[in-house]
Formats: sequence, structure tokens, C-alpha cells
Amino acid sequence: MQTIRTVAELRQALLQFRKPRAGFVPTMGYLHEGHRALIEASRAQCDVSVVSIFVNPTQFGPNEDLGTYPRDFQRDEKLCQDAGVAILFAPDIKEIYPARFETFVEPGELAKPLCGAFKPGHFRGVATVVCKLFNMVQPDVAFFGQKDFQQCAVVRRMTVDLNLPIEIITLPTVREADGLALSSRNRYLKREERQRALAISHGLIAAAEQFHSGERDVGRLLATAKQHLAAVDQLEYVDLVDYVKLKPAENPLRTTAALCVAAYVGSTRLIDNVILPLPT
Ligand code: AMP
Repeated sequence: MQTIRTVAELRQALLQFRKPRAGFVPTMGYLHEGHRALIEASRAQCDVSVVSIFVNPTQFGPNEDLGTYPRDFQRDEKLCQDAGVAILFAPDIKEIYPARFETFVEPGELAKPLCGAFKPGHFRGVATVVCKLFNMVQPDVAFFGQKDFQQCAVVRRMTVDLNLPIEIITLPTVREADGLALSSRNRYLKREERQRALAISHGLIAAAEQFHSGERDVGRLLATAKQHLAAVDQLEYVDLVDYVKLKPAENPLRTTAALCVAAYVGSTRLIDNVILPLPT
């Protein structure tokens, strides 16, 4: 036992009993500035930052790009080192899904619209791997990007529903100077496709500008986005949804909404969104 008479000494003595605050950034690798922003936030808010790199097979559909998903482990390792990451967790598939694995986390209504409608089982795979990684890393805080808006909603819901003692922090989408949302999959884009992919962010930004000028009509906001989206090869969806429930937004907008897009440019599937904020 120690007997202490000053506040400074008290604080110093208590430090040894304090558990370091652990921040966690789960990723699929091929890291870019969007990932780095999450790492920097973790570094700023936590004592120790953990990054995982795991290309999770259970969130890919049978005809998706699991086999060709971009990878560059050495580059990722360096980026993490330079960014001050304490632990890079890069497990082998067997470490995450050992033989006879058969238990999944099944998200509910939040996983049904938007990407969930086109990628059956995707969010089941996401929720399962994120839950497993949370149990492995046991972070105090986990950082996610707004770019994967529906993923953020599903993960937040899961942590509440399963009583996981982890704070979820969502950070804004990091974009190239011309507006394109950073994504590991941008690597697939040929020069001409990269140019046409701008239709997605430009459509979202144009609709957001219209919203900020006072437009609240769902049809007119969607029409603005769609004008730009004519340049993509296949529009999977462009939807205005309630920010919390992810159901179709009320018309005219009265509460915060998210304008979300998934589209193919060439054979590359890209997603993006903007939040249209309103006081709740
Ligand atoms: P991924 O490696 O694509 O699975 O993404 C790992 C994390 O980085 C997720 O939380 C993503 O939402 C986030 N992320 C991906 N792209 C961006 C971006 N452009 N800006 C901010 N966060 C991003």
C-alpha cells in the first residue's frame, strides 16, 4: 500500500492500474488515405491502436471479386508502421474460420435494403467477422468509415443488440481532390473508367448542394443525382433513406437522410453516399 498526499503523486501512482484504451480499425487491406484517417483518429483517441487486415470470404458473393481483391501486404505493413499502429493483426483464414465453423451473426432489417438487396448474405458475413474480430481484439473503441454507411448501421446495431462493450466511431468519407471516394477497388478502374466513376460523387454532391439550398423533395433530389449517374455502366441503386432506419425517406424530407449509390463502372462495383442532415 502507498500513502499519498499530493494530487500529482496520486495521479502518477494510479497510472499503473489504468488499462490502456485500445482502438481498433478493421480493414481488408490495400490501405489508402481513408484507412489512414481511421488509424489517425484511433491514434489520437487511444493509447494503443490495432489494425486488422483480413479479406473476409463470408462477405463475398459467389460471383464477386474475392479471388482478385487487391493485396499488397508489404505496402500495408509500412503504412501501418509509419502511422504509429501498435499491432497489425493479419490472420490466416483458418485462424478466423477453423474447420467445422458454423455459427454466424444474422443482422435484421438494417441489412435488407440498399446493398443488402443485391448482395444476399453480405452483411451476415460482415457482422460475423466484425463480431469475431471484436472478440479477438477486445478494443474499447472501433473506427469505421462513412463510405460504408450501411455497414456502420449494421455494426452499431450489432454492438447494442449483443451487448458488446465497444464504442463505435464513424468518420467522414475521404475523397480524391476531384470527389471520387477512396476505395481499394478504385485500383481496378481503367483511366477512362476512373473519369466516368466521378459521376457517382458528382451526382451525390449535386444533390447535396440542392438539399443545402433548401430542396426537400425526394423525387427532385434523386433526379439530380440520376442525371449524373447516367454515365455509369449499370446503376444498381440510388436511394434516399432515413438515416437511422434505412427505410425509404419520408417525402418531403423532415429528418436526416442518406443518399446512397451503388453502381458498376466497367466491371467494378463502387458505392458512395452523402448525409443530408436535418434537426431531429
Ligand atoms: P475496407 O478495407 O474497404 O473493408 O474498409 C475498411 C474500413 O475503412 C471501413 O470502415 C471502411 O468504411 C473504411 N473506409 C474505406 N474507404 C474509406 C474512405 N474513402 N473514407 C473513409 N473510410 C473509408
